[in-house]
Amino acid sequence: MRVGIVGGGIVGLATAWYLRKLGAVPVVIETWKLGGGCSFGNAGWICPSISTPLPAPGLTWKSLLWTMRRDSPLYIRPRALPRLAPWLMRFRSHCNHADHERGIRALAALNAVTMARYDELAADGVDFEMERAGILMVFPDSGKAAEARAEVEAVAEAGAAACREVDAAELYEMEPLLRPGFRHGVFVEGERHLRPDTLTAGLGAALLRAGAEIHEGALATGFRSEGRRVRAIVTSRGDLEVDAVVVAAGAQSGTLSRALGCPIPLTAGKGYSVTIDEPVNQLRQPLYLGGAKIGMTPFAGTLRFSGTMELSGINRRLDSARVESLRRQVAQAVQIPEARTGGRAWVGMRPMTPDTLPVIGALPTRDNAYLNTGHQMLGLTLGPSSGWALAAMVAEGRRGVDLGAFSPGRW
Ligand SMILES: Cc1cc2nc3c(=O)[nH]c(=O)nc-3n(C[C@H](O)[C@H](O)[C@H](O)COP(=O)(O)OP(=O)(O)OC[C@H]3O[C@@H](n4cnc5c(N)ncnc54)[C@H](O)[C@@H]3O)c2cc1C
Repeated sequence: MRVGIVGGGIVGLATAWYLRKLGAVPVVIETWKLGGGCSFGNAGWICPSISTPLPAPGLTWKSLLWTMRRDSPLYIRPRALPRLAPWLMRFRSHCNHADHERGIRALAALNAVTMARYDELAADGVDFEMERAGILMVFPDSGKAAEARAEVEAVAEAGAAACREVDAAELYEMEPLLRPGFRHGVFVEGERHLRPDTLTAGLGAALLRAGAEIHEGALATGFRSEGRRVRAIVTSRGDLEVDAVVVAAGAQSGTLSRALGCPIPLTAGKGYSVTIDEPVNQLRQPLYLGGAKIGMTPFAGTLRFSGTMELSGINRRLDSARVESLRRQVAQAVQIPEARTGGRAWVGMRPMTPDTLPVIGALPTRDNAYLNTGHQMLGLTLGPSSGWALAAMVAEGRRGVDLGAFSPGRW
C-alpha cells in the first residue's frame, strides 16, 4: 500500500514512520525541506502535563480586544481581523467550561502514549537529542502561579503527570540565572525536551533507511480522483500514484483539504523564537516565564527562547517589533547577555483550529483521504501519538485511541 503524505514536518514524518512500521510504503511530499516548517524553530517541549485547549472559560470579547496590543502575548493583527472574524467567532464559542474540559480529556487520551512513543522511536534507532529535565514555571505573583497549577492539576486528573509547588528560595537554587522578582514556581517533573531539528532529521534518515520515498522541493497542488477515491497527488514535479493520502501540511493544510471537498477552519498562530549558539550562560532546565508566556529551552550548545501567538493570517512575515518585545522580556527576567541582540530570530506558523484541537482522521468526502494537522502549540508533543493513531486507521482500519473529538467532519 503506497500512502502519500503531504508535509514533511513532525506530524507528517511521524505518520510516515508508523505507516512504514505497519507495512505501508510512505511517499512523503515536502515543498521545501524536511522539518523546515513550524517543526524547525519551536521550543522542543514534550509536555503532556500542560496540553490544554486555548479557548478558556474566562476569555471574554473584552480580553480578546486586549490582543490588539502589539506587545500582547496573544496578538491579533487589526488588518487581518475581517478575514479572521469567522474563525474568532468560532474560537469564542468554545470559551466555556464544558468545551475546555472536553478538550483537556481528549488531549490527555492522545497524550497517554506520548512518552511511550518517544521511547519507542529512540529504541527503533531514530537518532535525536532528547533530555528528561522537567519544566520549571516561574511567576512574580501567586495568582498566576495558582492558575497554572490548577491547569496542570486539571490535566493530571485526566491522566498526565502532576506538578509540585516551588518556593522562592528553591526557585533560585533550581535556576540561578533568574533575575530577582520571582516568588512562585511550579515544577512539572515528568516532562522532556528535544531539539526539534534533530527529530525531523532523524526521522527522515530512518524513513529512507526503511525504504520510504521522500520528495523534497515538490509542492502538492491537488489530487486526481476517481469517484470517492484519490488515485494520485498532483505535484510540481509530476503526479504521484497512491493508494491513500494523508494531508499533514501544517497551517497550509486548509487548501488541500478543500481540494478534497472538506473545508476546515484552519489558520496560523504565528510564534517567534530566538536561538543562541554557544551562549555565555546556560539554563539548568526548560523555563517558562509565566507572566510573559515565554518558553526557554537549553539544548546541547544552544539556548532558545520563544513565545507569542500572533493571528495575522497564513504568512511567514516576521514582525521585528514582536521579536524585540520577546528579547526585552527575556533580558528583564533572566541573565542571558545575548538576549537583546544576539542569536537568530525565526517565525513559525502553528496550525490552529477554532477549538484548538487537532484534526486527525478520515475525510467524510473521500474513501482513502485523511487529515493530520491542527496541533497548535503541541505538535512536537502530539506528533508521534497522532501519527501512530492515524497510521493504524489508514493501514488497518483500527482505532487505538478514540479520535472522535478530532474528527475532520466536526465542522
Ligand atoms: C514558537 C513556537 C514554539 C513552539 N513550541 C512547541 C513546544 O515546545 N512543544 C510542542 O509540542 N509544540 C511546539 N510548537 C508547535 C509545533 O511547532 C507545531 O505544532 C508543529 O511543528 C506542527 O507540525 P506540522 O508537521 O503539523 O507542521 P509543519 O512543521 O509546519 O510541517 C508542515 C510541512 O508541510 C509542508 N507543506 C505545506 N504545504 C505543502 C504542499 N502543498 N505541498 C508540500 N508540502 C507542503 C511545509 O513546507 C512544512 O514543512 C511551537 C510552535 C512555535 C511557533
